[in-house]
Amino acid sequence: MTSAWTIFLLRMIAIALLALIGGALFGLTGGLALACAGLLLVVMSHVANLSRLQAWLKQPEGKSLPDAWGAWGDAFIALHRLRRDEEMQRERIVADFEVFSQAAEAYPDGLVFLDADDRILWCNRAAESQLGLHGEADKGLLIVNLVRLPRFAEFIANARPGESLQCRPLGRKDLDLSLEALRFGKDRKLLISFDVTQIERAATVRRDFVANVSHELRTPLTVIAGFLEHMLSEPDPDPAASRQPLEIMDGQARRMLSLVDDLLVLSRLESEGHALREETMDVRDLVFDVADEARRLSAGRHSITCEVQPGQLKGSREELRSAFSNLVTNAVRYTPEGGRIVLRWALREGKGVFSVEDSGIGIAEEHLPRMTERFYRVDRGRSRETGGTGLGLSIVKHALLRHQANLEIDSELGVGSTFRAYFPAWRVTPKGGAT
Ligand code: ADP
Repeated sequence: MTSAWTIFLLRMIAIALLALIGGALFGLTGGLALACAGLLLVVMSHVANLSRLQAWLKQPEGKSLPDAWGAWGDAFIALHRLRRDEEMQRERIVADFEVFSQAAEAYPDGLVFLDADDRILWCNRAAESQLGLHGEADKGLLIVNLVRLPRFAEFIANARPGESLQCRPLGRKDLDLSLEALRFGKDRKLLISFDVTQIERAATVRRDFVANVSHELRTPLTVIAGFLEHMLSEPDPDPAASRQPLEIMDGQARRMLSLVDDLLVLSRLESEGHALREETMDVRDLVFDVADEARRLSAGRHSITCEVQPGQLKGSREELRSAFSNLVTNAVRYTPEGGRIVLRWALREGKGVFSVEDSGIGIAEEHLPRMTERFYRVDRGRSRETGGTGLGLSIVKHALLRHQANLEIDSELGVGSTFRAYFPAWRVTPKGGAT
C-alpha cells in the first residue's frame, strides 16, 4: 500500500514537471496555466471520491463500496475490511444471543429480566405461562403492574439474596410457585419462578397421611384405654363381667395390628430401594389360592367361582398375592349374603388381565377417581365393620405399579363392581387352552 503522502508528493512532482515543460514551451503564463490545471484535476478527483464516500456512508446497507485508485482506493479497501469484520462480529453476537435465548426458552423455570426500574426486558415461555406475562407485548412494562400477588411488590423491590416468596397466582388453583429475585449487572434483576406444585402436593399428602394414621390408631387406643381405666378403678372386678370388655379390646387391638401390617406392606411397596423379586408362577395356582382365602372369609355366604386360562405370570408372588387377595376380600366384604363373585384370568391383545367381578353394593361414579387414595372410603362405617383399614386398594395400586400393570374399576351402585388388573405382554406366558 502506497502512503497518501507519497502519492501526493508524486502528483506534485508531476505537476511541477508539467509546469516546467509548459513554461519552456509557452512561457511563464503557459507553465502557470498548466500547473493550475493539474492542481484543479487533483482537487476534482478528491471531491469526486469524497462525494462517492458521502453517498455510501448515507446508505451503506446493500451497497458495495465505491472503487478508486491510489490513496482513496486504499482507504476504501480498509473501510471495506472494517465493515466486513464488524458484520462478522455482529453475526457472532447475534448467534450467541440466539443460543442464549434458546437455552433460556428451554429452561423449565420461569425467567424474567428486569431493568433498574423493574420494567420487563425479556422473559421466557415458562415465565409467561406461570406468571401470566405476554413476552413482546409486556416488554418495558412495570412487572408489579402485571404480576398481582400479595407481598410481590415489596419482594421485588428488596430482592434480597436467599429470600423466596411462596405464592399461588390468581385464578390458578393448580399451580404453586416459589419466586426468587437476584440482582446482577448494573441495577438489573433476574426474577426466577419455580413450579413447586408437586412438592407442595407431596407435602400435603404426607401431612394428611400422618394425620390419618394418628386418627386411625387413636380411635381403638381410646376404646382400650377407656375399658382399662374402668377395669382398674373396680376394686374387685367380676371375671364374668370383664369378658365383654376384653373381647372389645381384643377386636380393637386386632384392628390396630392389621392397620400396622398394611402400613408396613405399603411402605415396603413404596420404598424405592426395595427391588422386585422376579419369579415365574402358575396363574391358576395363584388365583385358586386367593379364591380359597375368599371362601374362608365368606364362610359360605357367597358363590365364589374361577374362570382361568392357563398361563404363567412373571413377578413377585408375595406382592401379586397381596394385590389379588385385597381385591377378592373386598368383593366378599362389599357383597351382601347370597351374592356372586367371579375371579378371572384371561389374555386380551397379548396382555394378561386379572379381574374380580362381584354383585355387591357397587360404587357411585364420583368416588371412582379417588378409590386408590390411602384411607379413602366410600362408607367409613361399613369399612370398619368389615375389618377394613382403608389401605387395601392403595396396596393393590402400588403392587401393580411395580409390575407395570394398571388397575381399572367398573362399578354401578347397587349392581356390582369389576376390578381389572392389566399386565404387560412381556410378563405373561400363555399355555394351552382355557379351563
Ligand atoms: P377398605 O379397607 O376400607 O376396604 P380399600 O382401600 O380396600 O379399603 O377400599 C377403599 C374403599 O373402596 C372401601 O372403603 C369401599 O368403600 C370401596 N370398595 C372397595 N372394593 C369394593 C367393592 N368390591 N365393592 C364396593 N366398594 C368397594
